[in-house]
Amino acid sequence: MSVKEFQNKNVLVLGAGISGMSVAHILQNIGAVVTLSDSKCQEEIRKDFSKLIGEGVTLALGKQNELLLTDFDYIVVSPGISIYSPLISKARNLGIEVISEVEVAYRLCRAPIVAVTGTNGKTTTTTLIGDMLKTTNQHVVVGGNIGAALSQEVAEVPAEGAVIAEISSFQLEGVKNFHPRIAAILNITPDHLDRHKTMQTYIAMKERIFATQGPEDFLILNYDDHIVRDMARKVSSQVLYFSRREEEMRSAVYVKNDIITIDWNEKVYPVCSVREMKLFGAHNVENALAACGVAFFAGVPVDKMAAVLRTFEGVEHRIELVATINQVTYYNDSKATNPESSIKALEAFPGNIVLIAGGRDKNTDLTEFMNLVKHKTDAVIFIGEAAERFTLAAEQNGVKHIYPAETLEAAVDKAYQIARAPQVVLLSPACSSYDMFTNYEERGREFKRLVQKLG
Ligand code: ADP
Repeated sequence: MSVKEFQNKNVLVLGAGISGMSVAHILQNIGAVVTLSDSKCQEEIRKDFSKLIGEGVTLALGKQNELLLTDFDYIVVSPGISIYSPLISKARNLGIEVISEVEVAYRLCRAPIVAVTGTNGKTTTTTLIGDMLKTTNQHVVVGGNIGAALSQEVAEVPAEGAVIAEISSFQLEGVKNFHPRIAAILNITPDHLDRHKTMQTYIAMKERIFATQGPEDFLILNYDDHIVRDMARKVSSQVLYFSRREEEMRSAVYVKNDIITIDWNEKVYPVCSVREMKLFGAHNVENALAACGVAFFAGVPVDKMAAVLRTFEGVEHRIELVATINQVTYYNDSKATNPESSIKALEAFPGNIVLIAGGRDKNTDLTEFMNLVKHKTDAVIFIGEAAERFTLAAEQNGVKHIYPAETLEAAVDKAYQIARAPQVVLLSPACSSYDMFTNYEERGREFKRLVQKLG
């Protein structure tokens, strides 16, 4: 696999988002003849394509139809577009090779790839692994869902470097040869079912991360998640489990007497105490265990892993400490876009939470979430399109102090009025942000701005 594969080939890149624009740029510059297409027209996309056009990329914006497919060798699909769309089925029937941006990245990459997937915890774990590997290797690149597209990032990495890739189920839809030397599956809970339709398909997509692995490769699996644990039966690579619940297991990373411990090949390697970690919450212990497992196979010494765990403060918008005002601490967990991740945030605190939640409703089951809301919160403030359903579900679960708020600003003001120490204010929406914001980052930044203003 190399740059040569795409030289003088006609490539259609579908989707003019960050990933599509990056891959178009990369492929054109290594000698492919690229057309970038999006079903939205220029006015809707509102992006500057002049650099790409200058490089020789052809733009095809607006309504797409089969005529678009003439004469292409490859179609590269952005993560936002389902490979089950009619246009792509048609392309397949015409014998065009359909791949995802991540597959292109793999084909262009000289360095070994570490891939992390799962419903929740990908960015935190990927970033943590990146920091651990950087202690021993100066050519480490972390990418995928974070920042620029992976295909752009990998181009610079020499063979002796390492690429740590966060891979979503959408990106896995279009992989073929993608072969991570070390892969990790963190957890699988219902999410994105609007796209994948059934849990089986969603699981099958995640399983593609190890489909090309062989006996010389490594796979890190969550033992406490039965769907993930059971995948071991289908695997050809060497499996290392991680478990927050089991104390002592062969071929696993676990917590024994508070110490993160790696057990491999009948040897035991203590890493550090969970209490020394800067990250908090049980879910982050899981992320740390997975990261240690990956770093172990990547050759990072345990004392270097420990040093990273003692200083790593987490990633922006993930239970991020914003400010303490009148002894009340405010946390931004805007990245919690499903009830499952908000549950993790609620569990990370002993109680006394004033919770701000809501946004665009994913219509997932709220029973477990509201049960926890009842026990962990002193008050809840609901915003956005989900407010009505969330209020109803909260009432049904016996949550007492429920307040509506029209805007995030009104919610922050309300929280400021009611919260008194030892209470904490937590924005953990359990919903996507698209009803009020461009993305969860904008929602989180706006929350932080509003909180700073209070101070
Ligand atoms: P992802 O990249 O998969 O979306 P992040 O690391 O960005 O994951 O974390 C997003 C949110 O998911 C966090 O704010 C937290 O609430 C929740 N979360 C993080 N790690 C885990 C985990 N291991 N299990 C369950 N939930 C988690």
